[in-house]
Order: sequence, then structure tokens, then C-alpha cells
Amino acid sequence: MAQKKIVFVVDDSTITRLFIVDAIKDIEGIEIQQFVNGEQLIEKLKELVPSLIILDSVMPVMDGLTALDKLRKMGIKVPVIMCTADIQSTTKNKALSLGASEFINKPIQKPIVFEVVSKILT
Ligand SMILES: [Mg+2]
Repeated sequence: MAQKKIVFVVDDSTITRLFIVDAIKDIEGIEIQQFVNGEQLIEKLKELVPSLIILDSVMPVMDGLTALDKLRKMGIKVPVIMCTADIQSTTKNKALSLGASEFINKPIQKPIVFEVVSKILT
């Protein structure tokens, strides 16, 4: 039996979260938990560390870059995929320097999400 792979999907947009969930829900052994901002994510990470985090860059309360910085400072080393509509390299460079593993451009394409997540989880 495949080992359980917990994935946290963090995005303030309900539609985007559902879109991401739909793209990856059939990966074997996957268990998905959803969060609407960085603060919710950081609180959850205090009790459970997943196999992978898919993180939106622009969110209210706590944005993705701030959350990424915080979780790395907590010593959490799991892969983080940043989702960004920002075509400028500034956000990507900042995310890379904070330890992002991969990027997915918005608007999100399901086959790309599936491919990137599958690659990281296997
Ligand atoms: Mg957003």
C-alpha cells in the first residue's frame, strides 16, 4: 500500500484551491488539506508537517513569501511550490532565496500542477 502523502494547499481563492485539489486528487496515497492564508498554515505546521506545501504568493493576513520565510525559520524543510501571477523575477528571486522548490505560474494549468506535484512526491 502506498504511503500517505499529505499536501497542504494554501490559497485565499476558493476557486483556485478547488482547481489545484482537482488537479492532484487522483495521485496515489495523497491526502489534501486546505488553508486560506499563511497564518493558518503556520499554525497548522506547529502540529503537522506535510510532504509538500503548495503556496499562493498573494494572500491577505499573511502572504506566501512571509509564510515561506517563517516556516523555513521553524526548521521545516519540506518542498514548497510557490504559485504566482507575478511575471517579474523579483517575487521568484525572493522566493528562491527563501527556499522555494518550484514555481507554478498563474493562471494555473491542471496538467502542470499534476506534473510538478507528482515529480516531487515520487
Ligand atoms: Mg491569492
